[in-house]
Amino acid sequence: MNDVAVVVVGAGQAGLSSAFHLRRLGLSPGRDFVVLDHSPRPGGAWQFRWPTLTYGKVHGMHSLPGMELTGADPARPSSQVIGEYFTAYEHTFGLAVRRPVHVRSVEEAGDGRLRVETSRGTWTTRALINATGTWDRPFRPRYPGQEHFRGRQLHTADYPGPHSGAFAGKRVVVVGGGTSAVQHLLEIAEVAAGTAWVTRREPVFRDGPFTEDQGRAAVALVAERVRRGLPPQSVVSVTGLPMTEAMREARERGVLRRQPMFERIVPEGVEWSDGRRMRADTLLWATGFRPAVGHLAPLRLREPGGGIRLEGTRVAADSRIHLVGYGPSASTVGAGRAGRAAAREVLGLLGGRATSRPRTAVEEPAETPEHRSGRSSECVAAPDSRSR
Ligand SMILES: Cc1cc2nc3c(=O)[nH]c(=O)nc-3n(C[C@H](O)[C@H](O)[C@H](O)COP(=O)(O)OP(=O)(O)OC[C@H]3O[C@@H](n4cnc5c(N)ncnc54)[C@H](O)[C@@H]3O)c2cc1C
Repeated sequence: MNDVAVVVVGAGQAGLSSAFHLRRLGLSPGRDFVVLDHSPRPGGAWQFRWPTLTYGKVHGMHSLPGMELTGADPARPSSQVIGEYFTAYEHTFGLAVRRPVHVRSVEEAGDGRLRVETSRGTWTTRALINATGTWDRPFRPRYPGQEHFRGRQLHTADYPGPHSGAFAGKRVVVVGGGTSAVQHLLEIAEVAAGTAWVTRREPVFRDGPFTEDQGRAAVALVAERVRRGLPPQSVVSVTGLPMTEAMREARERGVLRRQPMFERIVPEGVEWSDGRRMRADTLLWATGFRPAVGHLAPLRLREPGGGIRLEGTRVAADSRIHLVGYGPSASTVGAGRAGRAAAREVLGLLGGRATSRPRTAVEEPAETPEHRSGRSSECVAAPDSRSR
């Protein structure tokens, strides 16, 4: 059994930002806090994203605190660019992420501490920053007849890219009204025998750049839901679909002609309520993700509304726990800021010190040379650090 002041679960944007700020506030990685992550490599969910999601196509990757992501080649896969950036980041700040370590459950330890059960042993802790994102919990809606479908069903989380052979010559139905659905359609239409796009609601396309005010308004909407203990919508889902040149062209070719949601799935395809049918070889569910917080279930944090109520990043029902990258902070810019807020509050909870034991007292300088320069030799000049 290992005892630490803080456990950070997840080493994506949110977890690394939290770890950076814990360290900056004087806590020592590996001794006062640990960062546990079950993925094989640095990069958070980015390491799993399809190869054609190049760095130039992401909607705005906000740098982690203290080290800019700069000069990355927009033609390279974002999985590689961000994987390398996170690797350099962890190394530069000595964050000592432990992986692969799967957190199975977080429970009461009985002495005011939490017990974190993992695939590599048990930790006890006074505070927990949960930064587990959503990638591990793809949302797959259920429709009547689905189990009898003779074709293949995939989710964005399994999307192998258009050149994988999975879509060549196939009739593909893409389900979902978000950016991922649109990106999949544009790519698949190049190789498939035919595509159809179905969404529950009429998609909202947005012309022109997203202003800061619109961004703030979108985040405020999600924050309000979380304050009321409702399940969060993704920030992206309330920002609309930014219209690009490629989308305009695809719309003219009929690729982005949206159809309403079908009513049932039949063995050879899908069927609408008026009896109209469409043959399909593949159903691609671009239906989003849910917060991956199942390991917190023993603590019973969920409100009757189905969500976890937060005050800032702190769980309203349990001040030892912070959710970073959840709801309003589920974007690269939001996760970065929330990591700082959570680290500060956790330090307050600990009384400004990691533990009461002398050997774990704050020893490190608050600011290292890397913090001050905000740069690393491994990364140079960001093409785009717009936030989403
Ligand atoms: C397809 C897609 C494209 C996106 N594009 C953008 C974009 O362009 N710009 C943007 O700002 N945002 C984008 N987002 C949102 C983006 O995912 C977030 O902004 C941000 O990267 C999430 O960071 P995170 O640290 O919260 O989660 P993640 O990056 O998912 O990191 C969570 C980490 O927790 C680990 N983990 C999960 N469960 C456990 C467990 N039980 N035990 C141990 N470890 C665990 C995982 O291994 C993972 O490393 C996109 C999302 C999707 C799905």
